[in-house]
Amino acid sequence: MSGKNDSTLIIAGSGIAGISAAISARQAYPHINIIIISGDEKGFYNRIALDSFVTGKRSIEDLYFNKQSWLEDNRIGFIHSKIISIDPENHKLVTDDSKEYSYDKLILATGASPLLPPVDGIDNNRVYSLWTLQDATNLKETLSTCESVTILGGGVLGVEAALDFAAFGKQVTLIEKSSFLMPSQLTDDSSKLLFKILNQKNISVLTNSTVESIIKNGSSVKVKIENKNYVTCDIVTVVTGVAPNLKIAKNAGININRGIITDKYMATSAPDIFACGNCTEFENNLNLLWNPAMEQGICAGQNIFKLQKEYVQKKYSVHLKSLEISLSSIGNPLEINGNDTIINLDNTGENKAIKTLAISTEGIIKYAAFVNDTDGFYQIEKAVKNRLEIPVEIIKQNSLNAVIEYVNKIYEKNSSGWVCQMCGYTHEGENPPNVCCVCGVGKDQFLVT
Ligand SMILES: Cc1cc2nc3c(=O)[nH]c(=O)nc-3n(C[C@H](O)[C@H](O)[C@H](O)COP(=O)(O)OP(=O)(O)OC[C@H]3O[C@@H](n4cnc5c(N)ncnc54)[C@H](O)[C@@H]3O)c2cc1C
Repeated sequence: MSGKNDSTLIIAGSGIAGISAAISARQAYPHINIIIISGDEKGFYNRIALDSFVTGKRSIEDLYFNKQSWLEDNRIGFIHSKIISIDPENHKLVTDDSKEYSYDKLILATGASPLLPPVDGIDNNRVYSLWTLQDATNLKETLSTCESVTILGGGVLGVEAALDFAAFGKQVTLIEKSSFLMPSQLTDDSSKLLFKILNQKNISVLTNSTVESIIKNGSSVKVKIENKNYVTCDIVTVVTGVAPNLKIAKNAGININRGIITDKYMATSAPDIFACGNCTEFENNLNLLWNPAMEQGICAGQNIFKLQKEYVQKKYSVHLKSLEISLSSIGNPLEINGNDTIINLDNTGENKAIKTLAISTEGIIKYAAFVNDTDGFYQIEKAVKNRLEIPVEIIKQNSLNAVIEYVNKIYEKNSSGWVCQMCGYTHEGENPPNVCCVCGVGKDQFLVT
């Protein structure tokens, strides 16, 4: 069935998952009605560029994509409202302005929300999240008038914020409770290098540090760390992770666990309701990144009337989007075990860089992280994603360059790859794309890899 002309698809959410679902549903079913209902006033914006908006490198207009006009051209309706309840049996939903809508198919793309640590004073008005455009707008107003910022959370978003705020002239302290930075992406050694580079940029980094309380003291705040001293600063930014938005799905009786549970077609347990993006859980994985949200959105949109596209869980790379340091990683360092071969390139020269590969006994690269020099990462990423088997004789050379050369040789028949210098998105083809489909920058921001 290709969708009757008068069928209505409602998509909850206008992030990358919701917008990708709308685009693919329109392509697959040209005649249906498509309506996006979103809590975001003006719809889709480039969430991953919010840091650069906060520090004034991008204007608010730069955050909105040209996909916006695509929606109008493709007859996709937009309603700014929050869905508060769903009645799966009767195919109806209600929004926070008490309006009721009927749907034939519903796609939930409601994203995630920041997880605030249970710390005394976390709710005081000098503490800011950095997840939505509203968060970023609030933070931007204050940041321009303050001198010092303490950032809670040494994951990717915390490190990016620290680099951007320091480059913006702020005195930055970065606090991480585990023993090293970006523990989901880096090994001990590469994290130590990152630590050193941040220090060189005058960012004070405190690891093994759990914040106990945040006390407002006039126009400044005191951040108390367990068994340690206070850090005094003007404001605090919290980037300690996010969790899927589950409330409306849960209240509607849809199966949830940590996220809304979907099958490989992005279908939920409720008839005619699909889900995609940060709100979902697939094969026990939460997917809290941009690319899986986009891929899941494309699947959900195509599958609403005919199950035709399967989502396949992959390894996704993470890139630090900072002009200050180049850093890319793929795979989980916690999955490295004693049987894997570790190949390290530790360049101890002036521009010190560490590149690490972990290769399984089957010859598959399961993890890679390049810090302070990402040359060759694109090739490795390709090998990881394609599960390319590296021959034993290459692995035995214990040389990163030998592995990269081998990967190059295998893929040499393919055309060039391009990497977006802003967000790390990689594009295959003879020419770079006119516009990065992830962060929206122009083709001049792409470098050949
Ligand atoms: C500063 C920053 C940098 C980032 N950098 C990267 C990066 O480099 N790489 C990467 O992979 N990821 C990055 N991320 C994460 C990435 O942005 C998210 O994974 C991605 O945007 C999730 O998309 P989504 O569509 O699933 O959810 P969201 O973008 O969160 O969209 C959810 C949508 O649902 C709407 N909504 C929620 N509840 C309701 C409701 N009840 N009714 C109606 N609408 C509702 C919201 O208003 C919103 O429109 C970054 C995030 C931030 C904040």
